[in-house]
Amino acid sequence: MQTRTVIPLVPHDHQPAPMTSHPMPANGKKFFIWTMGCQMNEADSQKVAAMLQEVGYRKAESENDADIVILNSCVVRQAAEDKVAGRLDYLARLKREKPEMPLVLTGCMVTRQQEKLKQRFPHVDLFFNPSDFDKLVAVVPELEMLEDDLASLPHYYQPQLSGNKVGVSAFVPIIYGCNFVCSYCIVPYRRGKETSRPFSDIVTEVERLVDNGVREVTLLGQTVNAYGYDLEEKSSLSRLLTAVDKIPGLERLRFLTSHPKYMGDDVIDAIADLPTACEHMNLPVQAGDNEVLQRMRRTYTRDLWMERIATTREKIAGVTVATDIIVGFPGETEEQFMQTYDMLEHTKCDKVHLAMYSPRPGTLSSRWEDDVPHEEKWRRHQELEKLQLRVCTELNAVRMGETYEVLVESKEKGRWTGRTRGNTLVHFDDDGETDVLGKMVDVRINHTSPWFLMGEAVSAPR
Ligand code: SAH
Ligand code: SF4
Repeated sequence: MQTRTVIPLVPHDHQPAPMTSHPMPANGKKFFIWTMGCQMNEADSQKVAAMLQEVGYRKAESENDADIVILNSCVVRQAAEDKVAGRLDYLARLKREKPEMPLVLTGCMVTRQQEKLKQRFPHVDLFFNPSDFDKLVAVVPELEMLEDDLASLPHYYQPQLSGNKVGVSAFVPIIYGCNFVCSYCIVPYRRGKETSRPFSDIVTEVERLVDNGVREVTLLGQTVNAYGYDLEEKSSLSRLLTAVDKIPGLERLRFLTSHPKYMGDDVIDAIADLPTACEHMNLPVQAGDNEVLQRMRRTYTRDLWMERIATTREKIAGVTVATDIIVGFPGETEEQFMQTYDMLEHTKCDKVHLAMYSPRPGTLSSRWEDDVPHEEKWRRHQELEKLQLRVCTELNAVRMGETYEVLVESKEKGRWTGRTRGNTLVHFDDDGETDVLGKMVDVRINHTSPWFLMGEAVSAPR
């Protein structure tokens, strides 16, 4: 492949122009990327968008006016897989109308052996594994012009995420894959072993993002706090956070998702001590019963998770906590479910990502009987939803009258929306005069609800 230096791109008007930017002139072609699933997929899509922009493609408004459509899939749960399949069926019609338009499937639906996928979706022109970005060259020959190793292309391009969200927040993958083998999880089969990116590449990437107007960075990994153990020159998440925190101009630093087993005091101390590290802890627990945790192969106990959360709260004033839970795991009894209920009632998380168990092909638990009926999974899900409604009502009520720094992400129906450092959603009214999109505004809270806060701006935007 011919080599060419890749330079930061500027996505839209909200960001200052980079010092040096020479993407190829527009070639008249447009791309459309449809992304499902986690932030890692979001980041991968941003990278693909960056590559295509770099060689002259522009973003299409919809799949209908695109010259290439890329579907970035998620199969972590059956419901997600069904959605991808539905979308691919819909795209089959478009493909009949525009047979020359390449249709590409990437993300976690793409297995190493692709024969079955090819049979199931014959209208897809290319399947590529999330780590094999350079495969795209088969349908976008212009990519020959990019660097040899396309996977090393930094993802400078920050697209508008949805609606009118601005690109002041960026995702930066720091570790790919996962070395755990949780019995229900398909991720290690699709994403492979843990591979940390070199420390200096990450720091350089964040520096460039900040130069391009990014104010908030979220470091990503399936086990983000396992960062650095696999590197020749050993490193760690806390060391990386310390280095990234020093980058001038960066205002907020986050990371997800952490594994309880790797949540050392060094990471908690880093959040407590580093000015940019946001007071938020995302630590998936999955279940509150030790026997279920053991069958999930989570490698820790309920007490370890609770202790980590207690320590986090001791050391970090005002910290918010998020976790993930699966209900209806094979063999989960009512008593075992109640252990999860009690744990959440006791711990009071600001956010719980709830999922009903679904067997995933190839995983250990898929060989066990999926013996909790769907209606029972749904009931347990609803029970926890109700609990969270009560817990979040309580937690947010305490925030009444407080003032929070909000990074504004979007505007809808005359109301601005953004997030606090603790990741709580805040709405406030537009005064009709000041554009605060992408700005920090201090907001005094005058209304609380379980899911968001509302208030009035009490500072000039900055
Ligand atoms: N690495 C993270 C989570 C990755 S998967 C961790 O260790 O927790 C994202 C979420 O999807 C998980 O937290 C889990 O709650 C959910 N999930 C994964 N596999 C699932 C399955 N088979 N059924 C239901 N939910 C699942
Ligand atoms: Fe899946 Fe477990 Fe790895 Fe998380 S830690 S990605 S749940 S195998």
